[in-house]
Amino acid sequence: MRKILRMFFVLLLMLAFFLIMSFRSGDRRERGSVAGSGSAMGDISQYGITHTEDAEQPEEEGQAMEAEKDMRTAVSVENIETFRVSREQIRISWPDSQDSLVREYIVMRQDFPGRNPGGWQVVERVQSRGESTGEAYTVTDQLETREPGQYAYRVDVEVADEAMYTAASGREILASNVKICIDPGHYAGVNAIEGPDAYGYAEGDFTLKIARELARLLKEEYGVDSCMTRESKSITLGGYTDVELDSRHIVLRGEYAAREDCDLFLSIHTNANEEGANGYDTSMQPVSINKSLLIVNETARKSDLVLEICNGVGTNLSLVNYRMGLSTGSRFDTAARGSIRQWTKEYNDSLDTPGTVVYRKGNSGDDYYGVLRGAASTDTPGVIIEHGLHTIPEVRKAAQEDLAVKWAEADAYGIAYGLGFVQEITMPDREISETGE
Ligand SMILES: [Zn+2]
Repeated sequence: MRKILRMFFVLLLMLAFFLIMSFRSGDRRERGSVAGSGSAMGDISQYGITHTEDAEQPEEEGQAMEAEKDMRTAVSVENIETFRVSREQIRISWPDSQDSLVREYIVMRQDFPGRNPGGWQVVERVQSRGESTGEAYTVTDQLETREPGQYAYRVDVEVADEAMYTAASGREILASNVKICIDPGHYAGVNAIEGPDAYGYAEGDFTLKIARELARLLKEEYGVDSCMTRESKSITLGGYTDVELDSRHIVLRGEYAAREDCDLFLSIHTNANEEGANGYDTSMQPVSINKSLLIVNETARKSDLVLEICNGVGTNLSLVNYRMGLSTGSRFDTAARGSIRQWTKEYNDSLDTPGTVVYRKGNSGDDYYGVLRGAASTDTPGVIIEHGLHTIPEVRKAAQEDLAVKWAEADAYGIAYGLGFVQEITMPDREISETGE
């Protein structure tokens, strides 16, 4: 009888162990990604009331203790959001839905990547109001440097009733003091392809698709805030709309970056070639014409950091294009100050040529492209990203699948590389390998 009891106890322990491990691996999966968009704030069980099984426990503590502690529930802040106020300030906010359980909130920050190996430090302690009113808490963190930086934040708690509850670490999210202005090139329907193998492609539609993905990835994966010159099919700035913002008043797009206090202006485009280039119909070009071009303005040309962003974006776009069968080579010629090639028609349309960083001057000596002039006029570094040529049928076909996501991943990773948030210039393989089927 005793033996059976003992076996039963052992089995019970194994089951408890299994449960703990599966809870913990679930936790790990969630770390690093951004909390939901602040919906469903009323349901307390959604953030952080979990049983102590997934709280850290000293190893030497006996099993009996653990069973006893299971009665207490852990409280943690899971739904945290950040907002880049300026180069010196990041705002952190979280809901007050757990106020009745919390005595004090502790906002914590860690500098990334490894600038302050000291680890987590307290930004601010906030007394709980004791009762949920639906009003979120906000704390503004004053940074020690204006340099582009990446930070992790979390909000820890001290519980009101320690007999009933125990405090667990809050969910960590990434943030930064960098803000990027994303300009989805043109507007809906512009540069639509006609004829055979058009695949319904229009540059002005596809640029919006890439831009939306890019904005999401920058925030979720790297903590970088952004704004967009348009979030829908149509664009309106300074009282002008659509065609006026693609011609006479196009500089307004570039000027918008400074109005929104952005550190960088990025105009999202897909490229084209001369009529009938290389002896092929204009929109029936071979894959070998494809290349990624990053066109920099006067301000960007002088910035090592922005050129590194260009190198990162171009390198990964070239890899993505090659691995998806959309170009004949994976090479991208990186550039440094003083070694930036000038854009030419011949180069743009050349076959089997790597992409690179280029500049292009107009007759006045200023930047040729209005969007880049607009950004330069406010001393904002500006870059046009020509992801690839939409005059290639294979590119248009891939655009119906997951090309926008793949390109946005390359853009976001390249930006993170230039900012120093990731160390390797090429994306980890797993992010490029699953190409459209
Ligand atoms: Zn364009």
